[in-house]
Amino acid sequence: LSGTKPGANLTSWKKIVPSNSRVLMLLGQLEKLNGEAVLSDAEVSRHITSKILHLIQTQEKTRKEITAKGSSGMEVILASLEVSGGRRVGVLVSKGGTAILLQLLITTSKEWPPSEELMLQLHTILAKVGPKDRKFGIKARINGALNITVSLLKQNLQNHKLLLPCLQVLRVYSANSVNAVSLGKNGVVELLFKIIGPYSKKNTSILKYVFQSTANARRAVDRTYVPTLLAVYQDWHRNDTRHRHVHIRKAILGCIRNITNIKLGRKAFLEADGMRILYSTSTECLSVRTLDPLINTSSLIMRKCFPKNRLPVPTIRSVFHYQLPHIPAEGPVAQLYRQPPDVDDVVDESDDNDDTEADTENDTENEEDEKNHKTQNDDIETDISKLRPKENLTRPLEDLKMYECFFPELSENFQVKVLTSCQTPAVLPKSLAPIVVPTAHAPSPLSLAQGELTDLPLDLDSICISKDGPGGLERVALEEDTLNGQSQSPVVGSLQGELEHDDDCSSHSSGELGVLEVPDTAALLPLHDPELYIDMVKGTKSVPQYTEVAYPDYFGHVAPTFREHILERVYGVQRAKIFQDIERMIHPNDILDKVVYDLDLKRLIDDGESLKFNSQFESGNLRKAVQVRKFEYDLILNSDINSNHYHQWFYFEVSGMRVGSSYRFNIINCEKVNSQFNYGMQVLMYSVQEAISGHPRWVRTGTEICYYKNHFSRSSIAAGGQKGKSYYTMTFTVTFQYRDDVCYFAYHYPYTYSTLKMHLQKLEALRTPQIYLRQDVLCETLGGNSCPLLTITAMPQSSSNDQICQFKNRPYVFLTARVHPGETNASWVMKGTLEFLMSPSPMAQSLRESYVFKIVPMLNPDGVINGNHRCSLSGEDLNRQWQRPSPDLHPTIFHTKGLLQYLSSIQRVPLVYCDYHGHSRKKNVFMYGCSIKETLWQTNVNAAACDLQEDLSYRTLPKILSQLAPAFSMASCSFVVEKSKESTARVVVWREIGVQKSYTMESTLCGCDQGKYKGLQIGTRELEEMGAQFCIALLRLKRLSSPLEFRNSSHFLDVENDLIESRCKVTSSTTYVLDEDEPSFMEEVDYSAESNDEPEPDPDPQETPADEDGLSDSELALRRS
Ligand SMILES: [Zn+2]
Repeated sequence: LSGTKPGANLTSWKKIVPSNSRVLMLLGQLEKLNGEAVLSDAEVSRHITSKILHLIQTQEKTRKEITAKGSSGMEVILASLEVSGGRRVGVLVSKGGTAILLQLLITTSKEWPPSEELMLQLHTILAKVGPKDRKFGIKARINGALNITVSLLKQNLQNHKLLLPCLQVLRVYSANSVNAVSLGKNGVVELLFKIIGPYSKKNTSILKYVFQSTANARRAVDRTYVPTLLAVYQDWHRNDTRHRHVHIRKAILGCIRNITNIKLGRKAFLEADGMRILYSTSTECLSVRTLDPLINTSSLIMRKCFPKNRLPVPTIRSVFHYQLPHIPAEGPVAQLYRQPPDVDDVVDESDDNDDTEADTENDTENEEDEKNHKTQNDDIETDISKLRPKENLTRPLEDLKMYECFFPELSENFQVKVLTSCQTPAVLPKSLAPIVVPTAHAPSPLSLAQGELTDLPLDLDSICISKDGPGGLERVALEEDTLNGQSQSPVVGSLQGELEHDDDCSSHSSGELGVLEVPDTAALLPLHDPELYIDMVKGTKSVPQYTEVAYPDYFGHVAPTFREHILERVYGVQRAKIFQDIERMIHPNDILDKVVYDLDLKRLIDDGESLKFNSQFESGNLRKAVQVRKFEYDLILNSDINSNHYHQWFYFEVSGMRVGSSYRFNIINCEKVNSQFNYGMQVLMYSVQEAISGHPRWVRTGTEICYYKNHFSRSSIAAGGQKGKSYYTMTFTVTFQYRDDVCYFAYHYPYTYSTLKMHLQKLEALRTPQIYLRQDVLCETLGGNSCPLLTITAMPQSSSNDQICQFKNRPYVFLTARVHPGETNASWVMKGTLEFLMSPSPMAQSLRESYVFKIVPMLNPDGVINGNHRCSLSGEDLNRQWQRPSPDLHPTIFHTKGLLQYLSSIQRVPLVYCDYHGHSRKKNVFMYGCSIKETLWQTNVNAAACDLQEDLSYRTLPKILSQLAPAFSMASCSFVVEKSKESTARVVVWREIGVQKSYTMESTLCGCDQGKYKGLQIGTRELEEMGAQFCIALLRLKRLSSPLEFRNSSHFLDVENDLIESRCKVTSSTTYVLDEDEPSFMEEVDYSAESNDEPEPDPDPQETPADEDGLSDSELALRRS
């Protein structure tokens, strides 16, 4: 500052001013205190300061004395502020010092000529006091101080000594948005451009604040200051070689950043070649870590200004068409069908001058998460009437009679050894007839249960082996005529080329049928049989009428024995990827832009120069692949059928790769704001070469993985009505190991519907005389596939009345899974459960003797088959249809609910219901349950309701699991009922059917951050283990509810006293669990906000509360009076 040292002043003071007035005496005392700089005298100095202020305010004479020429009064006050940091500034502010100083400023300005020294001192003090005073901006405006500072600046452009404090004060003024606009009108923007000039050391950070006002940004664009700013930035970049003025360079970038918040600014930036300038300056900064703030801000500006691209697809609707029997009256599907056929749903027709919307979106990348957070809290159900049980059944009793046939165990007398099966069609009333036995060509699990299935040996003729180019691997494909004469609808057109190709080969390659080497995995995969798999595929009906089978599903998957760690994040990966994306615009000639795979097109040229892609097999999902650079591909995922979004699940084949080269893959139409791919999750890869050499397995693969918002615009149709949204990119890099390999990539371990059918058949082989196993067909899906239903329990030990009675009175456990096709982990957990239930172990036998298990292992077969992520063929999330499922559109939900309603109608409400899911944004395995009390505790509404009685046993099963299963985390469990979940299986089964222990069990897609598997990604072994442990937990639950029965069981060795202790107490209430519990990602923060900047030397002047910002002066005056 002015170099004032308290000690130096002491002498000057005494020389010049005789101490004969009150104020001068006080000033003398203050100065003395300053000189001593004793902190403990704070009280004294506060007292003196307040007296001085009082005198200045009340006596004209004092004001004159203190501001008189030659008086060092102001200097003393200044010096006083210097001492003990900001504490005395606080005193000054609290004693009304700001207003007094501003009055002094006015008085001084009226003198002619105004005292330069006094002005300097006043501004110096104001620059210190201002940031501490939350109302400084308003006070300055009301007092008319703004113009004084501005005109002082105008007259002293060359006076550097005065310029600095004036700019500092201006900066504090303009933190108030009303002031910023007013200053802009008074020509401050122009003034500042005169001052900043090229490479000098003046304070430019004020520009940043002035430009926060949209009006001022517009003014700057009008005056074409953007090129000037860019030139100034470049100048600083070149000259500040030792990086001593990073803050100034950053301030200039801050100006550009604010200006580019408006559309005109972005346009001006592009026209001024801003992309290239910031790109080249940033790449030159990359090696210096301290320059990261510059790179990050540059990157933010470039991403904001990057012209939005159109996603290269004709429509965002699914490539595949499925005509629904009828269209729902409302909802997303109705909207989709109402959309005129010629409307462009990929980009919005115009986003003209919609600055405000685009601006808020651009400026606050992370706000979406916050919004989610808010809606999450709003989402808690507070209406107690919606939490209480809903007693009346929605379907009449006589309707439910049709489900009786699925419960023969309740009427079985076991006098006859052979179980008679449910004669479904005969029992059903003709008018309803929703339960259909599958058509003849699909082997029915029902008939398997009856043991009627004669050996259907794998017909090798049905496998076509085609040479896939020289030295390539053969492709497994079903011969066309084995597809039971499925007629070729227009949809198949895109497959025509492929089919012809296969026909060619089958005519001359039948002699090579035996060549296909199948890894011998029978010992490792007892439930897998490639031949049986092919057989199952033949009965599976897909909308695209797939004719091929993917190798991984054919060979099977043997979980690797090595550990797969959650990846450590490498610093700067995301930045590097984004810069590569920006290079597409800087060097457009380097971009190939070659479409190499496209489901929308019939034929593609294959010149052998690019990778070959394929996704036309069960559960496959890849719509399009575009080669961007030699080793880089943009990939586009297909929407769920009858929908225009839900892009997350992928499963595709790649061949024609070069060994040793790194390929970068970008999935460019992701929709979620964040992903576990940012937190260490890898994609899955399956190498056919490895499989043949004895390791058929999915392996976690990929480096340089990250997930970020990209430059492809998302239409308001795709974004649920929101404008100005973008898609997200998930990028990963892979180096292939083998020549002539065929590799598959998937979002998670695939588990097809045909795999399920194969596993169910194989389960039959595990049947022993002690096991009661029935497989029924619950109903047929929209796509014509059968929905299997399993019943597993123990056979009665004898046909004595006691035993039959025990058998018939076993409580039910009802399990479902895979309502969401993309959550394949749910199927692996279910596989673990089923295998445990069929195992010969004493625990399994004991469990079977304890319960009857009713299991629907795949609630959404059509979604699984057709590669959907979330929906069924109806284009709807089936787990939002439980309140009012339609028998036509949601048959599997309608009839699963029917089974539960039937059980309820005969007073056999299940003890436990659990729906297996996968969670894409959290780690570990955990449960969601339902509790009125815990829901109401969250909201603090209706405190009286806390008196209501609630059975706390809903916590027992998760508690047992947390002690038993290493992947399970009690901390992630929640028992809150959300409004948005009111039509999910969990909530409806709880409320309508009355199952107290009704759960969703969520398994991570990524990995664990606690327990034995901490730091590891999850694999199928852990998922299957989870399914088995769920069973063991049910057994413990049984023992807790009837301990006497189990007192003498010798095969339970584990101790569980603490469990019994805790079963009746809620130790902690649920902490409301957000959808995502990861910390916001550091690098993402870098790009969207300045929170990672070096701390500003001055306190942030932006403390002015927002509610005062918008007030006019008169309004403020009113408020003050
Ligand atoms: Zn789910």
